[in-house]
Amino acid sequence: MPHLTLRAVTKRFDAAYAVDHVDLSVPDGKLVCFLGPSGCGKTTLLRMIAGLETPSAGKVMFAGRDITYLPANRRDFGMVFQSLALFPHMSVAQNIAYPLRLRRTGVAEQKRRVAELLDLVQLPHMANRPVTQLSGGQRQRVAIARAIASSPKLLLLDEPLSALDAKLREAMQVEIRLLQQRLGITTIMVTHDQREAMTMADEIVVMERGRIAQVGTPLDIYRDPVNEFVADFIGLGNILPVSLEADGQIVLPGGQRIGVKASPPASENAGGIRLLIRPEDVCLGHTGADAAMNRIAGKVTFIRDVGASIEATIDCDGFALTVATTPRETPDLSVGMRVSAELPAHSCKLISACPDGDPTTAFSTAIPR
Ligand code: ATP
Repeated sequence: MPHLTLRAVTKRFDAAYAVDHVDLSVPDGKLVCFLGPSGCGKTTLLRMIAGLETPSAGKVMFAGRDITYLPANRRDFGMVFQSLALFPHMSVAQNIAYPLRLRRTGVAEQKRRVAELLDLVQLPHMANRPVTQLSGGQRQRVAIARAIASSPKLLLLDEPLSALDAKLREAMQVEIRLLQQRLGITTIMVTHDQREAMTMADEIVVMERGRIAQVGTPLDIYRDPVNEFVADFIGLGNILPVSLEADGQIVLPGGQRIGVKASPPASENAGGIRLLIRPEDVCLGHTGADAAMNRIAGKVTFIRDVGASIEATIDCDGFALTVATTPRETPDLSVGMRVSAELPAHSCKLISACPDGDPTTAFSTAIPR
């Protein structure tokens, strides 16, 4: 039985649905990321799991028990917020020991546990340092040590890394993931950063306007997004409006025809069909157009060369393709060069367009009804 189960969990703020009938099972010992654009309901959902917000409808079940209305302090969950909320007047050790003190743990046991946690988060020599004298990454580790001090059954993290600079953030992503795996603690993390979710999660829950758009492993979601919204939100992608001919051929925006192995989406909406091909799946060559080989003629208009990898934009007469390649694969690539871009049939996916025709990944706020 999964530890945490959400059943039609809903939160309305006046007439607006911040979270709209969410059903979810969180497997034991896994790290699950709630991912989605600003305002899609990630934090509200996490707060309902934490007990900091009461659902308007639905149930939160934990280990077979209905905890929907159980107060936060009786849930035995550890939490780390964006602000970290460390006590500035306390030392590192005092901060970590705080939840143990609240539970009236004996002084000797408190000391033992704090020493153990300081080792775990690699701050063994910092016990007596005021938290105000720590770096961002060190503060982060103290917040995590405090959250897991009383061995919570569930760890909830709300954008815990957003205040850190890019390099430290990436290092902490790996650190938190390794710690989570070592402890085997079921963890839910809110993030709007798809790279972060891809790096850390066993499962990603992509949210859109208060609802779950897709749940799956990072690779599943990257390879098989259910619609344009998810495809656009996860990773770089070429998403092209296309039409499907009676003979199964696909007509690209420039009128070129290609064949694909994928079937059309089960549910097509008014926005039509999109062809998705990831930049690393497009193959560049010199040979010009060849319909039988799914090769389209184009011209290189932009190159972003970051050393190990190259990202190129190809004008294909009617639409642009982003292509990811490497200096080894395409050593002579230059702006203005005429190339052929091959869209391998097995790498092309057909997905349904966003209903309103625009993926709108910048915001995805609650919908009034
Ligand atoms: P972000 O990434 O920006 O933090 P989010 O996905 O976590 O966004 P939520 O904070 O859960 O989104 O908010 C979802 C929706 O609910 C938003 O439209 C927000 O304005 C609204 N909302 C959240 N809290 C309240 C509140 N206390 N009162 C009224 N509306 C709220």
